[in-house]
Amino acid sequence: MKIQEADAKQLLVAQGLPVPPWEVARTPVEVRAAAERVLAAGADRVVMKAQVLVGGRGKAGGVRLADDAGEAEAIGRQILGMDIKGITVRKVLVAAAADIVKEFYLAAVLDRAARRVLLMGSAEGGIEIEQVAAERPDAIVRIHAHPTAGLLDWQARQMAFALGLGGHVRAAVAIARGLVATMVANDADLVEINPLAIVREPGGDGTFAERLVCLDAKISLDDSALPRHPALEDLRDLDEEDPTDRAARAEGISFIKLDGSIGCMVNGAGLAMTTMDLVKRAGGEPANFLDIGGGARSDKVASAMGLILADPNVRAILVNIFGGITRGDEVARGLIEARAMQARSVPMVVRIVGTNAEEAGRLLREARFETAASLDEAAAKAVAAARATSGAPTEVSSVS
Ligand code: GDP
Ligand code: MN
Repeated sequence: MKIQEADAKQLLVAQGLPVPPWEVARTPVEVRAAAERVLAAGADRVVMKAQVLVGGRGKAGGVRLADDAGEAEAIGRQILGMDIKGITVRKVLVAAAADIVKEFYLAAVLDRAARRVLLMGSAEGGIEIEQVAAERPDAIVRIHAHPTAGLLDWQARQMAFALGLGGHVRAAVAIARGLVATMVANDADLVEINPLAIVREPGGDGTFAERLVCLDAKISLDDSALPRHPALEDLRDLDEEDPTDRAARAEGISFIKLDGSIGCMVNGAGLAMTTMDLVKRAGGEPANFLDIGGGARSDKVASAMGLILADPNVRAILVNIFGGITRGDEVARGLIEARAMQARSVPMVVRIVGTNAEEAGRLLREARFETAASLDEAAAKAVAAARATSGAPTEVSSVS
C-alpha cells in the first residue's frame, strides 16, 4: 500500500528525521490560509505540492512555488482538480519553499533476493532514480544492512562519504539509520527520500546555515503486515484505490490484476500460481491472480466472478478448484449464480476436484456447463476460447 507524501513524512518525523514543517490543504482558500501562516513565520516563498500516489509530480506541474498568498491561492486553484497521470488532485501540501543547494537520493528498500534491507543512495537526486539506474548505474551506491543488527554506524558513514556528504556526516548517518528504522517500525518495503537536500536557511544574524533535510518522501507498506499496524490502515487513500482492489479487499479475496485475457479463479495461492503457469504453457496470458481462499461460499464465488468480469480484457475464464475445506458444490452453485447475473457472456472452463466434486459435476451438467477430460485440456480450451474473438460463447467444465 502506497501512502501520500504528507503521511510518509509523518512516519519519518515519528522516527526523528528532519522534515521541514508542512500543512495539507483541500481548497484554494485553505492553500491561501496555509501560505499566509508559512509567510508570517518568515519564509520568502511557499511551495505547493500535489498529493497523488505517483512519482514525477514536479515534471507534471504538480510542484509549484509562489511569492505571496494571493499567488499561492491561484496556484492552489490550478493544482487542485488537476489530472496527474490519470489521478485527480484532491489535496495539496503547503510548506516554506526550501532554498536548495544540492539534491541527493536516499532510500531503504527490501532486497528479497539477499533477504536484507538495502540502502541505496545517489548524489544525483531530484531526478527519477530509474533514469539514473538505466543511464549511469555506477552513480548508485548500494549497502546492505546487517541482517540482525540493522544498518550499522560505519555503514551509514560509508554511504554519507560515498555521496559526498562528508560535511553533513552526522545528519546523513542519522537519516540513513532513520530510514531503516522507519522501514522496520512500519513493515514498509520502501522508504525513499528524493530529494534528500542540503538547504540554506537564515541563521538569524544575517548569516546562513546549511542543513540536510528530507524534502520528499515516498513509503510503500507491506500489505501482508498491515494487520500488525491497525493505525496505518487509516492512511489508505480510498480516493486513489482501484475500485476492483477495494471490492476484493472488502470480500477477503486476494486479487492482482495482470495484463492477459484469461481470468483465473482458484482457491489457494499455490494453486493459483500453478494455474497461471498452466495458462502460459497453453500459450495464453492470465488476466489476474485470484485466490478465493479456503471455505469460500457461493456468494464469494459470485463476487470473484464479478471482479474478473470487471476487466474488459477478459475473454475466457478458467476456474480451478481443489475442494478441501472449500466444497465443490458450493463453488458450482456460485458459478451458476454468477453466470445468471453476469452482464457479458464469457466462455468459462471449470475444473473442480476434491470435496463434493460429484455433486459439483451434477450441478454443472444440469446447468449445461460442458466437460473437458483434464486440467491441461481445460487450460488449452480456455486459451482457444479466448483466441476465438467471434462466435457464440461456450462453457466447458472438467469435473473429476
Ligand atoms: P516528485 O517530482 O513527485 O518527486 O516531487 P518532489 O517533491 O521530489 O519535487 C520535485 C522537484 O521539485 C524537486 O526535486 C525539487 O527540485 C523541486 N522542489 C521541491 N520542493 C522544493 C522546494 O521547497 N524549493 C525548491 N526550490 N524546489 C523544490
Ligand atoms: Mn521526489
